[in-house]
Amino acid sequence: MNIILLGAPGSGKGTEAKRLAAATGMKHVSTGDIFRAEISARTPLGIEAESYISKGNLVPDSITVNMVKSRLAGVESGLLFDGFPRSIAQAEGLDVWFKETGRKTDAVIFLDVPDEKIIMRLVYRRTCSKCGKIYNLKTLKPKKEGICDECGGELLQRADDREDVIRQRLESYRKLTEPLVSYYKKAGIFHAVDGSGKPEEVDLAVSSLLGINK
Ligand code: AMP
Repeated sequence: MNIILLGAPGSGKGTEAKRLAAATGMKHVSTGDIFRAEISARTPLGIEAESYISKGNLVPDSITVNMVKSRLAGVESGLLFDGFPRSIAQAEGLDVWFKETGRKTDAVIFLDVPDEKIIMRLVYRRTCSKCGKIYNLKTLKPKKEGICDECGGELLQRADDREDVIRQRLESYRKLTEPLVSYYKKAGIFHAVDGSGKPEEVDLAVSSLLGINK
C-alpha cells in the first residue's frame, strides 16, 4: 500500500505517520524531516532548502520531487508520505513516477483540524532533538521542563514554528497544498478524518479506515 497523509502544518501528519509506520512496517517519508537533516548536515541541498523553509515558503517542486525520487529509488516497501506532495505539480510528478515504477497511490488521508487549533499546536510545539518525540507546552507537557520524557534529549522549538513564519506556512498551504483536496477527490482515493482529537483518537480513526487492526 502507498498512502499520502495530507493536512495543514500542525494537523498531526508526522505524529500519525510514526504510529502507522510502526504498526505496518511502511516506510515513513517526511520531506520536512529530510530537508531538516540536510540543513543540519549543511549539504548544498540543505543550504538551498533552508532559504525557502526559514521564510515559510515551499521548496521548489522540481528540487522536492527529484529528492523524493532519488531517496526512494530501489525501496520495495509500501510508502507513507507525510508532507509530500504539497502542490499539484508535486502530485503530478508523483503520479508519473509511480506509473513508471508500477506503483499507485491507494489512499489519501486528510487530517482535518480547525485553524485555531493549528496555531495553538504550532506555537507551543516542542520537538525532542534526539528522538523526535513531539510535545506541546499547553496540552502535552514533558514531566521535566525542556527535557524529553522518553530519552532525556533536549526539547527545541523548530525555527519555522515562530509566529511570523507560521503565518506564511499557512498561506502557502492554502494557496498551493489545499487544491490537492479536489485533485485527490477526483481521483476517488480521498478520505477525510477528524484530526482535532488526541493522537490516539486520530490513530484509531485512521487505522480503522485503512483496515489496520489495533
Ligand atoms: P514539515 O516538517 O512537513 O512541516 O515541513 C517543513 C518545511 O519544509 C515546509 O514548511 C516547507 O518549507 C518544506 N517542505 C517540506 N515538505 C515539502 C514539500 N513536499 N514541498 C516543498 N517544501 C516542503
